[in-house]
Amino acid sequence: MTLTRVFHVDPLNPDQSVVEYCCEVLRSGGIVVFPTETVYGLGALASNGEAARKIFIAKGRPADNPLIVHISKLEQLYEVAENMPEDVMKAVSVLWPGPFTVLLRKSPRVAKEVAAGLPTVAVRMPAHPVALRLIDCAGPIAAPSANISGRPSPTTGFYTLLDMFGRVDAIIDAGETLYGIESTIIDTTTKPYKVLRPGAVPIEKVAEVLGQEIIVPEQARGLGEYEKALAPGMKYKHYSPETPIILVESTSPKDAIQRLAKEYIEKGKKVLVIASRETIEVLRGCTPRTTSYGSRHNMFEVARNIFKVLRELDREGVDIAIVEGVEEKGLGLAVMNRLRKAASKIIKTTS
Ligand code: AMP
Ligand code: MG
Repeated sequence: MTLTRVFHVDPLNPDQSVVEYCCEVLRSGGIVVFPTETVYGLGALASNGEAARKIFIAKGRPADNPLIVHISKLEQLYEVAENMPEDVMKAVSVLWPGPFTVLLRKSPRVAKEVAAGLPTVAVRMPAHPVALRLIDCAGPIAAPSANISGRPSPTTGFYTLLDMFGRVDAIIDAGETLYGIESTIIDTTTKPYKVLRPGAVPIEKVAEVLGQEIIVPEQARGLGEYEKALAPGMKYKHYSPETPIILVESTSPKDAIQRLAKEYIEKGKKVLVIASRETIEVLRGCTPRTTSYGSRHNMFEVARNIFKVLRELDREGVDIAIVEGVEEKGLGLAVMNRLRKAASKIIKTTS
């Protein structure tokens, strides 16, 4: 058990003494939970392999699943990566700071543990004052999401406490994150560029900024064979609550959900329907319990709520959750990737 110091800070104007304390923890080889605009991260100095190893232990993360390196200024990109293509430099100048991660050739200054022995490194510049100040002080920080491996990514400081208290040196709690879903990762080490993980920047936007088409492999949609994973992280089951989830991908979700709910209720199961506000509206009275993840017409809201809903599911005391899928457009691609990975069963219907 590690002694964990917990700090509450203003997300826009964090107490400088907290930033300096946590910076010192990182410099002396410790690990710190900090907020970003996507989800909370668990950080160590990117140059310190021993510290990176502590992250894998704290999370129970397989050692072959590499970490994203976070920077606070463009100069640091040259510290952590090599051979940056021109179009990538242009894209980062538009999308950084922000939830956009690029896979590049790794510089030897990044510890091999961070890249899990790979010759590449994933890099991003987060758009969160606390993250930026911490990196400004300590230098590039390697950080995966601050959850126990396999659990939904934490979107509040409270969720990081549940997972990480006693496992890390410090937690900086700055309330709820903005996007609530992780960054979009693009592999730019080979052409054509491809999505490794859809995230908080819609892939359509990335393609527009890069001025080229980007391949969306089956795995980026949360489908396909996990053994042949593109990004090591894609082969692991993710984001899974204990409660089994049935994901409904249907052109008329209301009927499919209603049918399924009835079937399970008749078997004596306690069912929770997780769906869009619009579907819940028409289901009213047909199923005993419902939770909304937001409007089907506002994917920003759905993406922001999805991990929270998955985290809360195990506290609902139900046997099974039936979840309505969303359209794989814009942020919907990232939402469907997370839902398919969380699901124990996927049901597709066209009626
Ligand atoms: P997390 O920080 O929990 O969001 O996980 C980071 C994600 O980035 C995982 O899916 C990793 O597999 C992926 N990733 C990080 N570095 C690399 C890399 N060098 N090559 C491929 N994927 C990477
Ligand atoms: Mg993660």
